[in-house]
Amino acid sequence: MEKIKESFISSINENSYDEFKALSYYITGIGTSYFTVFFILSLLFYSDWIIGLYTLVFYYSFIGYMFLLIYPFAMVCTLDILVKCKIIETQEQDKNNFVKSWKYYLTMVWNLIVLISCFTVEYKGAEYVAHYKFMCKTFVLDKSANVYHIEDYADECNVAARSKKLQLVHGWQIEGKYPLCPICKEEGGYAENGDIIPDF
Ligand SMILES: [Zn+2]
Repeated sequence: MEKIKESFISSINENSYDEFKALSYYITGIGTSYFTVFFILSLLFYSDWIIGLYTLVFYYSFIGYMFLLIYPFAMVCTLDILVKCKIIETQEQDKNNFVKSWKYYLTMVWNLIVLISCFTVEYKGAEYVAHYKFMCKTFVLDKSANVYHIEDYADECNVAARSKKLQLVHGWQIEGKYPLCPICKEEGGYAENGDIIPDF
């Protein structure tokens, strides 16, 4: 009995499977390299230019959003596994007519696991980027009241106006040490770019 190598995806469209697979290698190769470079740089430095490098491609642009949408599907195609399937012998040999074994259905489950994992990583990645932005952002620290203010709102903030001990600091210098001023939180709890400022 003749055998062929098949997976759930390859059986959808046998003819263009190899082309899709080749294209998906490019998409996942570029995307993964880009994410990895950003992640490593973000571990080493807190800098606005690293955010700029990341947001340049992945945020605030149609191409960026499309890429984030396509990337998980490309990863599914890249990591797709072909399994041996037996062709059902009839008078006319048809390669689309094969025995769908449990291994074949396992490729479908594997595709689903990869897809869900990729979307989860992207979601967690977005949270990481928001947190990284906080670490790089400049705030105003009020040492007398032991709170920090959002830089853009500090001039209008009553608590900040009463204090004489104001100091410009970065997010990484205050994270976990001071709470956000309640007035700034109410007035400007959301940064200009729409990211939620973490409440520590
Ligand atoms: Zn304030």
